[in-house]
Parts: sequence; C-alpha cells; structure tokens
Amino acid sequence: MERQQEFVLRTLEERDIRFVRLWFTDVLGTLKSVSVAPAELESAFDEGVGFDGSAVEGFARVYESDMVAIPDPTTFQVFPFEGTGIGESARIFCDIVTPDGAPSWADPRHVLRRALGRAADKGFTFYTHPEIEFFLFKPELGPDGQLVPVDEGGYFDHTTHAAARDFRRQAILALERIGISVEFSHHEVAPGQQEIDLRYADALATADNIMTFRHVVKEVATSSDVQASFMPKPFTDQPGSGMHTHMSLFEGENNAFHDPMDEIKLSKTGKAFIAGLLHHAPEYTAITNQWVNSYKRLFPMPLANQVTESPAYVCWGHRNRSALVRVPAYGKPNSARVELRSLDSAANPYLAFAVLLGAGLKGIEEGYELPPGTEDDVWALSDRERRAAGYRQLPANLAEAIDAMSESDLVAEVLGEHVFDFFLKNKQAEWDEYRRQVTAYELARYRDL
Ligand code: GLN
Ligand code: MG
Ligand code: MG
Ligand code: MG
Repeated sequence: MERQQEFVLRTLEERDIRFVRLWFTDVLGTLKSVSVAPAELESAFDEGVGFDGSAVEGFARVYESDMVAIPDPTTFQVFPFEGTGIGESARIFCDIVTPDGAPSWADPRHVLRRALGRAADKGFTFYTHPEIEFFLFKPELGPDGQLVPVDEGGYFDHTTHAAARDFRRQAILALERIGISVEFSHHEVAPGQQEIDLRYADALATADNIMTFRHVVKEVATSSDVQASFMPKPFTDQPGSGMHTHMSLFEGENNAFHDPMDEIKLSKTGKAFIAGLLHHAPEYTAITNQWVNSYKRLFPMPLANQVTESPAYVCWGHRNRSALVRVPAYGKPNSARVELRSLDSAANPYLAFAVLLGAGLKGIEEGYELPPGTEDDVWALSDRERRAAGYRQLPANLAEAIDAMSESDLVAEVLGEHVFDFFLKNKQAEWDEYRRQVTAYELARYRDL
C-alpha cells in the first residue's frame, strides 16, 4: 500500500497532473466524483476526504451523514485523453468509511469486498467477464419524439456502418489506454446497438472497470456527437441491452469449475454453483435487473423472425441461448465458466456480482442438486410444457422482483441490512411512481372507449 501510494504521488508530480478525481458508486450504481488537487491526495490516503453522505442515494440517514472517501491506490489511473489544454487528469476509486473508520455498510464496493472475503475463506477467487451491450443514438430525437439509432446495422455487420465502427474503435483505444483490456467487440442485433466485451478479471476489478467503461463510452460518444445509452430496453420491437456475465471460481491457479472427466467438463463445484444461481434467481433479480424498464427486456419477444436471446425462465443449458444460465463450450481448462444472461447493462455491478457470488456459494455450501439441463428453446414451449419441465418464470416486473427479494434471507445477508432496506424502499417508490403513469400506449388504445 505504502509503495503504491508513493507511486501515485510520484506519477502526479512527474506528469504534472492538476486534477485527481475520487470516484465511488452509490447504491443504485451511479458514479460519484469529487476532484481534489494532487497536494491533497497524500493526506487523503491517510485521513480520507469527507463528504455529506445524506446527499448521495442510499448512503446515510441525515442524522449520521458524515462519510469519508479513502482512495484505493491500486485503482489509480491517468486519463490521457481528457486533456482540455489544462493538462491530464487522473482518477482513483475510493472505499467509503464512517468518521470512526469503519467501512460504510452503504458502500457497494464494500458489499462486494465482503462477499469476496467469504469466498476467500473457502479458498476461492471469483472472476467475471462481462459482455456489455448498449445503444448509440443520434443526438436529436426523431419527428415523433422517438430515439433515433445511429445506424441500421445488424449482428456482426461490418462495412456499411462506418459511424458505429469508428466509435467502437475510438472507445476501445481509449479503454486500452487506461488499462482496460477489451476482448471482443461487434455490432449487435438491433440498429445502433453495440457490444464490447471486457477481458475477465477478479470481480472487484471488473466492477471498477464496468463503472469506468460506462463513463469512457459516454465521453467518447459525446465527443463523437452521438449519445450512448445503457438503458435495458429502449425499443418495443428490438432486443434490449444485456450484460451477460461469465463467472468462474479459482482455487489458486486452478479453475474449480473444470472437470476433464465430466460429460460437459463441468465440475461438481461448477454444477452446485449453477444450482445456487437457479435456486435463488427470483430473489436476486431485483439487483441484476433493477429498473422498471429492465423487465421489458426479460420478456420473451413475440415477433416473428426476431431473436431476443434474453432469458425469461429459470433453467440452464449447455450452449442454450434461451436459458438463464449457459455453460459455453471451451478449450483450455482455465476457461471453464458459466454465463448468466439476465443481468443488464444498467445494473450496479458491485451489488450484482456480490449477490450472484452469494447465490453460487450457497449452492456449493448446501450441496444443491443441479436439475437436468435443457437444450429446448424454452421460449418456444407452451406454458404447460414449461410447467411440466419445472421451469419457473423470472419476476415479470419490478414489483414481483421486489416481492421475491424482500423474502430473501440470502440477499439480505449478502447486501447487509442497510443496503437491503434502502434498495427495497427505493425500488418500491420507483414502482409506485411508474404505476401512476398513464402511458402513450393506454391513450392510443383506450381513448375511443
Ligand atoms: N441483446 C440480447 C440480450 O438482451 C443478447 C444478444 C446476444 O448477445 N446474443 O440479452
Ligand atoms: Mg456476446
Ligand atoms: Mg451480445
Ligand atoms: Mg453471451
């Protein structure tokens, strides 16, 4: 730590950096930032920087509102492309503590650290690899007030959509320059829809990287005169933006999900982890899919010739892209992993990884039995066939998700009481507000009654 702090301070001086942004994330996954002069950073490492927690979503009650941000020197990064003629800037993620130095129960980073600590007690390190989908819109709305995608491209399209391709190239260059490795990128199914996949890393680094990614993608978009959106489902008749996440547990150097003798090369540990993900799916869905709009994406799309590939039923399969959990085929032993397909691009990654890890570990601890996999297209089955196969439905809307979460001992334990209560209250308020709205759909459909 000492050494890393010295490295940070030296770098600031050598590169003549005038601004250091201290970053942290609120309970709903919004990035928060406070700038300090480099001279302040040394004392910030020791004493932190105080702020009024009552003004930040989920952080504190008014009567105990003083919070302190302590920079984590391992996350220091210079932002070379943000030069505006006044020199480079840098950012550093913070852990949030109370004035007496105890970790804040409201800090999503702390929630994830705690979950990772539990895994470490059992000898596991948790790795994640997200596939992040998002839309690019033109800055102006269309004649009917609708969002206008920047192109008419489709899955893996290459030549015709120069705007999106240039955008992806620029965004990836910017990400790589700040140390975030990108593995794949391509045009997604819907017009204007893009996907960029980050290389796998331990879950805390990945969550930090996702927060950084959203910021960088939005900055690059603004400078390219387009708008980037991580909204889960902007168009009724187009697929939404998911953040499929591949997960694995390592024991030292070895991937604990790999078993060369198994039919699909998945170990007992891997199977129990999936069983945990399935068993607790309805309970954690409010966290992985936290907005009213998230549930428009998790709905099986009724249009002909359209693939949505977002899950609506609790089941797993090997290669099955309609299942909640998929076990991809892989080559090297250390690539053994499971992919969760419900998560969306507007989730709080710290909380989401914490509850997913919690559910998987629970499966391992309790030795949950993995139900048989399915290679059926679960959307194509009838309700009766799905019931007969025992596939439960994911919560159909935010209200159902809130209900399932509020009954969950597991989610309460992983999040801690404060975040659990705040989150449920906040989401109930969101649902109530949404429920009051008379929508364009209703006016169009009922005005002639
Ligand atoms: N957009 C789809 C979703 O919402 C995923 C499409 C894909 O990557 N195969 O999950
Ligand atoms: Mg993909
Ligand atoms: Mg995709
Ligand atoms: Mg995928």
